[in-house]
This record gives sequence, structure tokens and C-alpha cells, in this order.
Amino acid sequence: MSISIHLENLTKRYDALTAVDGLSLDVRTGETYALLGPNGAGKTTTVEILEGLRASDSGTVEVLGLNPVSDRTRLQRRIGVMLQEGGVYQGAKAREVVSLFASYYPSARATDELLELVGLADRATTLHRRLSGGEKQRLSLALALVNRPQLVFLDEPTAGMDPVARRTTWEIIEHMQSEGVTILLTTHFMDEAERLADRVGILNHGRLVAEGSPSDLIQARGDVSFVSVPQLPVEELIEEIGIDVREVRTGFYVVTTDTPSPALVSNVTAWLANRDALITELRVGAGGLEEVFLALTEENNR
Ligand code: ATP
Repeated sequence: MSISIHLENLTKRYDALTAVDGLSLDVRTGETYALLGPNGAGKTTTVEILEGLRASDSGTVEVLGLNPVSDRTRLQRRIGVMLQEGGVYQGAKAREVVSLFASYYPSARATDELLELVGLADRATTLHRRLSGGEKQRLSLALALVNRPQLVFLDEPTAGMDPVARRTTWEIIEHMQSEGVTILLTTHFMDEAERLADRVGILNHGRLVAEGSPSDLIQARGDVSFVSVPQLPVEELIEEIGIDVREVRTGFYVVTTDTPSPALVSNVTAWLANRDALITELRVGAGGLEEVFLALTEENNR
């Protein structure tokens, strides 16, 4: 199996703050790996180190077999980076932005082919500053694909998009996947990670707290979750069952455990019945990646 990204014991400090704390992970060639984590978990710092934009303090970093700092020029030819809006001249038309970018690479994709791919063919002559937020994001995606990269970094690719634009972007990403491109994705949308990622890594305080395919991570959790009236006094339930319980959304509670039992479920429902609180839903195991994420990042925050 070939590896496109290899990180071993990566550490990055900003003064007293350790933003990335001994992170080790591998991204296999051709896979889509989603780096997830709450705000400040260290995702952007990690991605910037991989792109060669930031130096690490210690640890091993290999991207396509290269050192992102000392081999930056060679690496840049082979990777695609979705830049944030600031990197583009606002007064240029969409087609001009792409063709200027393409002129930096000897074997760039044709500009019109790229605009077609990201669904902006009918915006080719629109000024960049007149494009909607979602269209600007798609233009950034086109720029990331200009040089036919083997590896693409997508940092929150659908942030700020409406549901239709998000779906279009997912389809573009799936097209890249079908071409065998390796993708490192960061996102705050768990449905996006579930749909696109072969594997996810959940970061918390700069450390990897879980890694695996979305379905394996979901199946590995044994949490008991239930829906009932909002603002129940969960500290009383915690005292009763000796296990952490949180209201993660209004009226949606998670009892965090890897080892659910009939007795636990019965104790929880009995406690609710004593309070005359009706359960409208009860589930053992995580229903989705969002529950896994909430359970793991909260557990580790305590
Ligand atoms: P978000 O989801 O909010 O984008 P993130 O997981 O990408 O967060 P980072 O941006 O990598 O997190 O930040 C990790 C930590 O390092 C945060 O506490 C942040 O405040 C801090 N940090 C990031 N860049 C710097 C910097 N240049 N100087 C000092 N501290 C920084």
C-alpha cells in the first residue's frame, strides 16, 4: 500500500500553547481522509505544515515522499490547495483567474474544461467580486485542480454554501475521487465527512482521539441516547448510574459508554419515568458521526 502523507510525532507550539501534540497518521494514496475536530483542535496548523506553509517544531512530515519545507517547489507542482478568497484578484473575470493560474504550470488543464467541471461555465465572464460565496468556493476548487494534482488539500470546502451548492461540490469531489486523487479534507460538517471520507481522524487539543472509517467509528460506540423533555437535571441521573450524561442538543441526551447493558437502559428509563418524562426515542450505539464526534471531543475536554 502506498502512502501519500506520513506524519510521525508531529508537534507544533505557539509559545505556551501546544497546537499539535505528537500527531501520527498516514493517508493512503487514493483515499479521502477527513481531519475533524472542534475549533482550535489543530487542523489548520497540521494542514499548513503539510502544505509547507508552516514549519513544525519536531516530528517527521512526508508528503508524496517529500519534505514540505525543503522540497516545497517540487511539492507544489504535484499538490492542489484550495486557497481562501483572499488569494485571488477580485477585479478579474472567472476565466481570467483560472487561465492566469494555469499559466504557471506546464501541463495545466484547459481553462474551459475546468470551469465546466466545477459548474461555472456560465460564469466565465463574471468578475470575481460579483460571484456568490458558493461560486467563489467552486472557483477555488477549480484552481486547486489546475495542475492535475495527485494530492489535494480541501480546507472546509463547503463552508458558507447553500445546500444545492454543497451537493454540487460533493459531486466535484467525488469526480476527483474517481480519478484516483488523494484528498485531505477538513470539515465541520459530519454529513460531509460521512459521505466523502474513506477514513476520518478526530483531533482534540492537537491529539488524535479516534481514527477509522465513519461506519467503524459509528459502530464502535455504545452510547445510549434518548430524546425527552429539555433541561432534565442530568447531574442526578449521573449520580444514579455513575456514567456521564449530557444534553448535547435541546432534548437530546447522550449517556457516554462503550459498554451498554440492559441494566443501564432500564435504570435510565426508570429514572425518567420517576420524573414523568416521556422518552420519544431511545437508541443504543451512535446513529451517526456527529454523535461519535460529540462524545469523543467532549470526553477529552473534561
Ligand atoms: P478551526 O476549526 O477553528 O479552524 P483548527 O482545528 O484549524 O480550528 P488551528 O487553527 O490549527 O485549529 O489552531 C490550533 C490552536 O493554535 C488554536 O488554539 C489557535 O488559537 C492557535 N494558533 C493558531 N495559529 C496561531 C498563531 N499563528 N499564533 C498563535 N496561536 C495560534
